[in-house]
Amino acid sequence: DMEVAIKVVVVGNGAVGKSSMIQRYCKGIFTRDYKKTIGVDFLERQIIVNGEDVRLMLWDTAGQEEFDAITKAYYRGAQACVLVFSTTDRDSFEAIGSWKEKVEVEVGDIPTVLVQNKIDLLDDTVIKNEEAEGLAKRLKLRFYRASVKEDLNVNEVFKYLADKYLQR
Ligand code: GDP
Ligand code: MG
Repeated sequence: DMEVAIKVVVVGNGAVGKSSMIQRYCKGIFTRDYKKTIGVDFLERQIIVNGEDVRLMLWDTAGQEEFDAITKAYYRGAQACVLVFSTTDRDSFEAIGSWKEKVEVEVGDIPTVLVQNKIDLLDDTVIKNEEAEGLAKRLKLRFYRASVKEDLNVNEVFKYLADKYLQR
């Protein structure tokens, strides 16, 4: 069988847990103060989806989310996208629509999933469940609540994307 390789971009405001998610998924670790490994553009993980070998390449930004020129290069050739906001950061939730647009402008309509991270902090939530579900519905996106810290639903997010990509 031919192996399928998918470039996945993980997008959202700073500090929502993008780098942590990539680390968790590809290395199986969670650290409170993750520092980007210099010189590494992406981490990868191989999985089997519906009997097919899939190599997911998860691209990380160096925490320069606010610079358009950098994110443009980062999106190039992306085949799937994770849009992330945080349970404890209202701005990150409000910004999802504009992140989705930025990706679309660069690479068009690619398999995309919406993730609410840090649900281990649900007691301190600043986003109502109905709001998050409403956003997912409006944007027509599959929605996952996840905790990278507790390793909740992280695998499911990427399995969904790989599956969606194979079905396209
Ligand atoms: P990025 O800027 O989007 O790449 O975010 P980081 O991955 O650097 O994470 C920002 C902070 O949030 C770090 O201190 C992480 O340890 C923390 N963090 C990431 N995911 C979770 C989570 O699921 N729960 C909690 N409580 N903290 C998290
Ligand atoms: Mg980061």
